[in-house]
Amino acid sequence: MNRHYLAVATIAVSTLGFSGCTSHHQASKEQLSDTGATVMASQDSHSVHQPKWSYKGSTGTEYWGDVEGASTCKTGKQQSPINITKVTASSAASPIIDYAQSTDIRINDNGHTVVYTPTTENNTIMLDNERYVLKQFHYHTPSEHQFGSQNYPGEIHFVHANSKGNLAVVGVMLKIGEANDMLRVLLNGTEIITQNDDEFTANDVDLSTLAPVMATFYHYSGSLTTPPCSEKVQWYVSKQPLTLTSDQFKIMSNLYEGNNRPIQPQGSRKVEQLSN
Ligand SMILES: [Zn+2]
Repeated sequence: MNRHYLAVATIAVSTLGFSGCTSHHQASKEQLSDTGATVMASQDSHSVHQPKWSYKGSTGTEYWGDVEGASTCKTGKQQSPINITKVTASSAASPIIDYAQSTDIRINDNGHTVVYTPTTENNTIMLDNERYVLKQFHYHTPSEHQFGSQNYPGEIHFVHANSKGNLAVVGVMLKIGEANDMLRVLLNGTEIITQNDDEFTANDVDLSTLAPVMATFYHYSGSLTTPPCSEKVQWYVSKQPLTLTSDQFKIMSNLYEGNNRPIQPQGSRKVEQLSN
């Protein structure tokens, strides 16, 4: 059974264009408003998801350029993900990660991945003295980026935006190994939404433990890896992976497996290696 079609869409449609469900939700909200009815979050969160794009078949990755507003997926020249093979040493500064020790995180399933949304804005990274706030993170299995043509079992994307709406995404590979305590809390919540098709909030998650893991980054200019594939993303892919146990990983891959966009041409883009 393909879980994508069992999944319910949720109200957490980000303003960043990450969800393919945006227009669906806007339409249902407008309809409700037209009747003068109050827009109920619960009604919205239980709408049945109708994917306009997917990773396979007639709505798969090769057709994303035909999705309304997503022609860049086909015509873009700075698309993501890429295969990272050759890197250029750089003296540019690494992102400085300043994640909080305690954050409440809303967990929901948007029909393409599980989205983890902090309820506060106190998780930030600094890039060239500019503050980017962590808006959400989500995962892909297997990884989207490759290192030397190799995929990892999974990849988490931490999506940050500055006040102008520019995006900086930190990608971290997932590797099977030691248990990850930070992920444990989130994965418990992920199991709960899997069983109940609902939203769940994990309290007091310590995201600060991630910072020490990420010391060296591969940086390049790229795009969203989902429609509309907008080319407004500065990518920072951590050289060091996060480890988690195979049981922890199974919770993720049971819900989504194969939600990775294929590798895109690098073109003339350079990948810089940044270290603190
Ligand atoms: Zn992603």
